[in-house]
Parts: sequence; C-alpha cells; structure tokens
Amino acid sequence: MNTTPYKAGAVAVLGRPNVGKSTLVNALVGTKVSIVSPRAQTTRHRVLGIASVPGGQLLLVDTPGLHRKEHRAMNRHLNRAARGAVTDVHAAMLLVEAGRWTDEDALSYEVCAQAGVPVVLVINKIDRLKDKSQLLPFIANATADRRFEAVHPVSALKANGLDDLVATLLGLLPESAPLYDEDEITDRSSRFLAGELVREQLMHRLGDELPYAAAVEVEEFGEDGDLFRIGVVIWVERDSQKAIVVGRGGEKIKAVGQGAREGMERLFGRKVFLRLWCKVREGWADDENALRRLGYTD
Ligand code: GDP
Ligand code: MG
Repeated sequence: MNTTPYKAGAVAVLGRPNVGKSTLVNALVGTKVSIVSPRAQTTRHRVLGIASVPGGQLLLVDTPGLHRKEHRAMNRHLNRAARGAVTDVHAAMLLVEAGRWTDEDALSYEVCAQAGVPVVLVINKIDRLKDKSQLLPFIANATADRRFEAVHPVSALKANGLDDLVATLLGLLPESAPLYDEDEITDRSSRFLAGELVREQLMHRLGDELPYAAAVEVEEFGEDGDLFRIGVVIWVERDSQKAIVVGRGGEKIKAVGQGAREGMERLFGRKVFLRLWCKVREGWADDENALRRLGYTD
C-alpha cells in the first residue's frame, strides 16, 4: 500500500526573460501550454500549467520576466503580473541560466524572498555548459547570502534533472486532494490558447523583425457544426509595421495563419476556420486602457 500522502499546490516560476521558464513548464506539464521562442519577452500573460505527477499535482504559474525599465505601460504591467504571481503560492522556482548570474536574476530572487515563500534555485540549460567544472563555483556564488530550499541543475529542453526537481517541489506542497482532473493541463481558455498560437507563429516567422508592440486579439471564437470559427487581429502601431507582418503579397500573414491553424487543430482535435487580420492602432503599448482591452490585466 502506498502511504505517501498526495500533495498539491501552486508553484511560481520566476526568472528573467529567456532563461527557459516556458520550456520548463511545458516539460513538466508534458504538453505545450506556454509558448517558447528564442527571443526575450515571449510570455506576456500568466499561464497556469497543471503538472499531474505520481503522488501530486503542481500548479505552475508561468510569469512574465521582470523588467528593469518601467517607463512603458507594457513593462509596468509585466512587472505587476510577475510580482502578483508570487503571492498565494506555496513555493517558487527561480530559474537562472547555467554560468550566467545577472542583476535581473538578483531582482527575481528579491521578489521571491520578499514574498516569504520557499525558493528553489533551478539552474537551467546545463546542456549548454561546456566546462562542467564551472557549475560548482557558479552555485557557490549564486547561493552566497541567499536562502534557497534546494538547488537543481537541469536541462528543461532535454528534460534532464526534472524528476528530482519535482520531488523537491512536492516536498514543499501541502497534503491535498487533486485540485484539477489529472487530464487537465491548463486553466486557460481555448480562446486564450488560440491567440497564443498566433503569437508564437508571429515570433517564429518574423523573428527580430517582429515589432515589439505587436499584440494579438481574438475577436471571434465560435463553434460552427464540427469546426471552430476563429477570428484574430494582430495589432501594430504603424503602417510600416503592418507591411512587415503582412509581407510581400500577404505571404507572411498567410504562413502565420497556416501554422497557427495547424497548431489549433492539433490542440483542439477538430477543424479550424481561421481568419487573420493586421490592423494599425497608434501608441497602444503606451495605453493602459488598450492593454486592458487586449487582456493584459493582472
Ligand atoms: P522564457 O522566456 O523564460 O519563458 O524562456 P523560453 O522557455 O521561451 O526559452 C527561451 C529559449 O531558451 C528558447 O530558445 C528555448 O528553446 C531555450 N531553452 C530553454 N531551456 C533550455 C535548455 O535547457 N537548454 C537549452 N540549450 N536551451 C533551452
Ligand atoms: Mg516564457
């Protein structure tokens, strides 16, 4: 008979942009719930990934990275969302990149420490560390004058070290019945995930060309017989940005739409009719009201 009690609770995932938070959440959940990209600032919303593992359930709050510069409404919003994510959790994971400790990592730690939750230091991307002898001094530096419950070197990408990490996290969670069905992977709506898939395609297909101030709004999400009818607007700030998103002869936006539609059909398990537009709205990234309308609310 298994006498280990079932554990369930919320774990915040913190770290500066691009350290691999979304990749780790997806690896723990086992399905893609958070979009990943080689660029910083991919994640703008809190995404709750639900990782059901033997003996427990981790509710992973994937946070936007903290941003040093708060002058734009968007960055202010992102910082509020990241701080909000460490309240009401049982533990926090601070993700850093093996071999690189920056001011932003220190800031993320302070946010966790101030919230008074146990912090687990997760040193990600160890697969990229050429000289393994650097790892111990790196850990010594990172943990000097800071309180961590545990330190776990992992590779989120290659799923190395994750079982030990999960065991540590379960140890920090309260005894509880499962909080969600074991086949649920996120509390985000299909509508939200549809928008995320469009944003991911934009990121992959436009790379560094993608205007920072591009946002995705799902205008229509409805069932029509066996299929979903989905309408998505890509908002940009200037005509010149629209030209980039649409591409010559509409080739870019067409490719984005096709990739996103395929992703939606895989995720929802049914045919999707997707309509995609690009519209210009000046100065939206500076405008708190516009941010609220686009769903960037805490
Ligand atoms: P986030 O901004 O913290 O959510 O970071 P992402 O999860 O979007 O990852 C940023 C980039 O780092 C992507 O290109 C990932 O493929 C890459 N990445 C994440 N984890 C690892 C890892 O363990 N090893 C390597 N080599 N790359 C990783
Ligand atoms: Mg992310």
